[in-house]
Amino acid sequence: MIWDVAVVGAGPAGLAAAHAAASAGARTIVLERATHPRYKTCGGGLIGTSLRLAESHLAAVPGRDTIDAVTFTRGGRRSFTRRARGGPLLTMVRRDDFDHAWYEATLKAGATVRQECQVRAIAQDDDAATITLADRETIVARSVIGADGSAGVSSRHVGVTFDQEDLGLEVELAATEADRHAWRGRVLLDWGPFPGSYGWVFPKDDQLTVGVIMTKGHGAETKRYLRDFVCRLGLTDRTVVRDSGHLTRCRRTDSPLRRGRVIVAGDAGGLLEPWTREGISYALRSGSWAGAAAAAGDLAAYERQVAAELAPEMSVGRRLLAVFAKRPMLIHAAMATPVGWRAFEMFCRGQLAMADVIDRRGIRAAVKLLGA
Ligand SMILES: Cc1cc2nc3c(=O)[nH]c(=O)nc-3n(C[C@H](O)[C@H](O)[C@H](O)COP(=O)(O)OP(=O)(O)OC[C@H]3O[C@@H](n4cnc5c(N)ncnc54)[C@H](O)[C@@H]3O)c2cc1C
Repeated sequence: MIWDVAVVGAGPAGLAAAHAAASAGARTIVLERATHPRYKTCGGGLIGTSLRLAESHLAAVPGRDTIDAVTFTRGGRRSFTRRARGGPLLTMVRRDDFDHAWYEATLKAGATVRQECQVRAIAQDDDAATITLADRETIVARSVIGADGSAGVSSRHVGVTFDQEDLGLEVELAATEADRHAWRGRVLLDWGPFPGSYGWVFPKDDQLTVGVIMTKGHGAETKRYLRDFVCRLGLTDRTVVRDSGHLTRCRRTDSPLRRGRVIVAGDAGGLLEPWTREGISYALRSGSWAGAAAAAGDLAAYERQVAAELAPEMSVGRRLLAVFAKRPMLIHAAMATPVGWRAFEMFCRGQLAMADVIDRRGIRAAVKLLGA
């Protein structure tokens, strides 16, 4: 049998892609090496853009907390908390719950999802693409959507190139009653000691996700930042439910997203916000566009949509990261101002894209001043 669309990887990008393709009537198969529900290293913070996409596709969004307050610190000091007016800023999910909800919605949309099914290689000719699985079985499809992360087979096949690589480390801590009370509805963002680094506490009811991220290549420093961060927060004696790390990679501006019949979405395409490393909204958006384009047999439409909508946002994210890496105190101070906080609130709610953040008067002036 020749499938219309084969999707490699069943994270948010792959499942959104398969949902869109199957909903458009394409015979769609998803190949996933794990079994849902499965753990994924991720803060699980949904900005408004992700939440709205999830709400329109899932029977129910499995939120563990909704956030309306943010505490900002700089290396654990200079703490202040800002509260949002007019509804929550972020929704916290556990990725095992969230991805499982997408898995069920994708099945309901009519896609076939094969789990415990590792893709080893992709090949293509004028007629079709052939995917070889670990047990040597082959799957043939007219179009392939690679959504297997930035270190996956698809990204290599397409030749995606990256110009920013970061290491994220996280611990999931069992929350005590006092922790639940202290953190409900509030996240903490700490601007870290190394250029471009930051840490977070994201509450998820009975667990706290505590993580840090910084440029790849400084493993010992990244570990030390996380250890010191947990210690400063007074959380060292909590039970560690999980302790994991994962790389995030942003594509070069001129990186390909397609090779012939194969396109890449989400992390596999290096599509994520360079400053915050927010990737779920990029995965859901790019996945949905990829699925629709593949179902319509117009893969070039996908490249155009990413270029028009995500590339400008990424370019601004890079500039904001450059400012932040040079002058983290400027970002810290900006959050204390009405303009900075309002832009942050609107970004979290998905009412303001990164590309528009930089157009705000005070922010544009600061970015220009720093030459980023
Ligand atoms: C520490 C950290 C914290 C983060 N926090 C946030 C956050 O709070 N909010 C946010 O929006 N983003 C966050 N991100 C980014 C976010 O996790 C990713 O951008 C998002 O998961 C990308 O989704 P995806 O579907 O592209 O890839 P993934 O979620 O990685 O899914 C890829 C899937 O492909 C499967 N796969 C891989 N190889 C194969 C193979 N060979 N064959 C078959 N299947 C395969 C994997 O098992 C997996 O299920 C964070 C990232 C890190 C590292």
